[in-house]
Amino acid sequence: MRNVTAYATPSAKAPFEKTTIQRRDLGPRDVLIRIHFAGICHSDIHTGRNEWGEANFPFVPGHEIAGTVEEVGAEVDKYAVDDRVGVGCMVDSCRECANCRAGQEQYCLRGMTGTYGSIGADGRPTDGGYSSHIVVDQDFVVGIPEGVDLDKAAPLLCAGITVYSPLKHWDAGPGSKVAVVGMGGLGHMAVKIAHALGAEVTVLSQSLSKQEDGARFGADHYFATSDEATFEQLAGSFDLIINTVSASLPMAKFLSLLTLDGTLVSVGAPSEPLEVPAFALIGGRRSWAGSMIGGIAETQEMLDFCAEHHIGAEIELIDGDDIGGQIDAAWDRVVDSDVRYRFVIDTRSFA
Ligand code: NAP
Ligand code: ZN
Repeated sequence: MRNVTAYATPSAKAPFEKTTIQRRDLGPRDVLIRIHFAGICHSDIHTGRNEWGEANFPFVPGHEIAGTVEEVGAEVDKYAVDDRVGVGCMVDSCRECANCRAGQEQYCLRGMTGTYGSIGADGRPTDGGYSSHIVVDQDFVVGIPEGVDLDKAAPLLCAGITVYSPLKHWDAGPGSKVAVVGMGGLGHMAVKIAHALGAEVTVLSQSLSKQEDGARFGADHYFATSDEATFEQLAGSFDLIINTVSASLPMAKFLSLLTLDGTLVSVGAPSEPLEVPAFALIGGRRSWAGSMIGGIAETQEMLDFCAEHHIGAEIELIDGDDIGGQIDAAWDRVVDSDVRYRFVIDTRSFA
């Protein structure tokens, strides 16, 4: 076992504290990663505030990890010391079920091993990326190409892949009209990636306060959902809607914006159920779908795509003094939709 520095919250409403956690000794196929940057995802907050059920405390969140390889196990052949690497939301899966064999490890039929909140290969609870180091099997490590800085790359490991996967699955590209609901961490990545794929992109945000940013990220159009006229004006407009909102929305109103055969994909994961009247789907033969992160191969494909198109996240960096207090404040700002557009913790000073 190796002692490493981390930030943890001891209970659902408590402030973050600096602490020491243990990482397993390197197995033959393990990689020891020195974490440089860790993104703050709204899922960290849902989990840490018990919004998705009772979490394990003390809780070390973080599943948007970017860093460099510090040490490798004897049989590691994919990575070498100093390689730029990333880890996302999962660190293992059964590797045998149909979904794992299809490269969709996130849908492992036996349940993938989460980067935090799961039981790891050593039988102990997994701890996330708000820490100085992590040990991960090489098959769940991805390479970060030179074209994107590590701080702006960290959020790609969850926010980036979570929107890239459905955009690809539902064929966003030239000629398609894509709407992104909510322009936070996931939403701003969806705008950038959908634009780079060649789609016509519309942002549906609560207000017009971030309209200029949306245009800078590649949005062609921007509307406020607080304005009822938006729904009349845009009825039947979109082939694909990506809903990134962390709270419950009136789904029928958003489904009414789809074209014939259009699809609304929920990636946002509010704790409350979403309500969908059957008539919102029947008229217009509409589909409502969900999507969870992406497989390891697709995550690598997304990173290569983003590097090629010079796409990284827009970040606010947490570094210097009082890291715990800054994480607490960042969580509150994310919940208040006051994030521009991803908080990233500089973890290099933890060690
Ligand atoms: P975020 O940065 O907080 O972004 C969510 C955005 O939704 C906000 O910035 C805001 O955008 C909008 N919003 C928030 N509350 C709203 C409300 N009450 N009504 C209308 N709009 C509201 O969060 P995130 O990190 O992008 O994550 C978004 C959601 O996706 C979370 O539920 C998270 O757990 C989930 N998630 C799912 C996956 C997956 O695999 N499916 C992966 C990662 C995260 P505007 O101000 O522009 O309206
Ligand atoms: Zn996440």
